[in-house]
Amino acid sequence: MARDSSNSLPRQSPCLSYWQRTTRGFPHLFANQNNPVPAQIKYVVIGSGLSGSLTAFELLEAGVKGKDVIILEAREAASGASSRNAGHVRPDAFRGFSAYSKVHGPEQALKIIANERLVLDKVDEFVKKHDVQCDFNLTTTFDVCMTEEFAKYEAESLKAYEQAGGDISHIKLYEGDEAKEKTGIPDTVAAYEWPAGSSHPAKLTQFLLQAVIDCGVQLFTFCPSTAITTNQSSPHLWDVHTPRGIVTAEKVIHCTNAHAALLLPQLESCVTPNRAQAHSLVPSSTFSGTNALQSTYSLRYSLYHFYSLIQRERDGTLVLGVSRSNPTLSSETLAGRFSTNDSHYNQEIADDALRSFHQIFPASSSQDVHGEGLDHSWTGIIAMTPDSVPLVGGIESLPGQYICAGFNGHGMARIFTCAPGVAKLVMGDDWSTTGLPECFQFTPARISRLSEGNLPSIW
Ligand SMILES: Cc1cc2nc3c(=O)[nH]c(=O)nc-3n(C[C@H](O)[C@H](O)[C@H](O)COP(=O)(O)OP(=O)(O)OC[C@H]3O[C@@H](n4cnc5c(N)ncnc54)[C@H](O)[C@@H]3O)c2cc1C
Repeated sequence: MARDSSNSLPRQSPCLSYWQRTTRGFPHLFANQNNPVPAQIKYVVIGSGLSGSLTAFELLEAGVKGKDVIILEAREAASGASSRNAGHVRPDAFRGFSAYSKVHGPEQALKIIANERLVLDKVDEFVKKHDVQCDFNLTTTFDVCMTEEFAKYEAESLKAYEQAGGDISHIKLYEGDEAKEKTGIPDTVAAYEWPAGSSHPAKLTQFLLQAVIDCGVQLFTFCPSTAITTNQSSPHLWDVHTPRGIVTAEKVIHCTNAHAALLLPQLESCVTPNRAQAHSLVPSSTFSGTNALQSTYSLRYSLYHFYSLIQRERDGTLVLGVSRSNPTLSSETLAGRFSTNDSHYNQEIADDALRSFHQIFPASSSQDVHGEGLDHSWTGIIAMTPDSVPLVGGIESLPGQYICAGFNGHGMARIFTCAPGVAKLVMGDDWSTTGLPECFQFTPARISRLSEGNLPSIW
């Protein structure tokens, strides 16, 4: 099966996620959908997901005037991965350390993990400071080892992380009966617990869009940017082409996730679209009322075979995500993940997710009545990079253009430092002020390394 490339616009007619189905009243969903873009503006942000909306927000925080910013969005407002994910704001506490070390070295690997922990604090701080009604629930998460092999892998990762100087003071380990009791999962071998959260990601993104629109930013929905060319009369300006006119801008920020290479063709082999799937379930009584899950979960059989699970405090909805490389799926389904088509879901993945959920939590299967059980399934597109970390920063060969994209399925655990970072760079600050791991930086050397394609596979 042919792989879709990131050299494409988002598909028209995407399906709706649980998050979108519960926010159809957002007044800016179709903002300016028939209006032409202005002829001239200082800042164009492309993409209205969490990256684009937070970048715009941070530019305003840094003193940029709202009237000087527009956001271009190819579909309805925030209709990409930010409104289609599995709701986890879940830092990696140690598991990725060895894998990141192989590609980026131990020092960067420590920074990658520390950065995710920082993001959780930043989201918590932001939600409290601005009273964001996005159902953010700061709690803990369990990394549940469902097999001896995976328990061994986790133990080795933790040891390597600790030996390299990683902080493990916030991580608890449970084994045997204690692990079963803590997680409520009879078959668990071991479990690790650390702080994490969940949110309604569409409400969070819509809050940011509303906030910047209130300050004068204009959002143009159903208005894809189709090309960017040098302005003929002022070579330091950029002409951003759309079906509703050309807007000439001083600065352009690409927040286009898995579609980055359409406007930046040099990224074609650096950003790969991967379709991911999630499901909402109405809980049976086993998970309702005071029986609701208090922590979030990553339910792991192996590195490539796992399920993510959160339960929303507000309505008790369970959100169940599935690993994209789950080896128990058919080869046809696995090949189908290299796609930008988020208009439908895959039945085999949905069946596997439900079957596994009932296997992992046997009590859940006993008493589904009409109205309980699977509520909805949806897909969204993740942007993978060959070195598993995002692309953030100024694009040297295109002065005045910046990127914040490629979150490898971890955007909720990364964007709250990356978008503020890129906003600082747009305002003229140095990379060092971003506080981001250096390996996130978009540099010509990194892009040529990624394009050569001979990095060890991380996941
Ligand atoms: C099923 C699923 C489950 C996930 N689960 C989690 C999770 O639990 N935790 C977590 O941390 N992450 C998760 N992720 C990943 C997370 O959602 C993403 O990393 C994050 O949303 C990326 O945000 P973004 O703003 O960069 O991209 P997006 O939200 O995709 O925004 C990019 C926007 O750009 C627009 N666009 C693209 N090209 C153009 C163009 N040329 N012109 C105009 N507009 C354009 C798109 O339409 C889109 O709205 C999941 C993703 C999926 C799909």
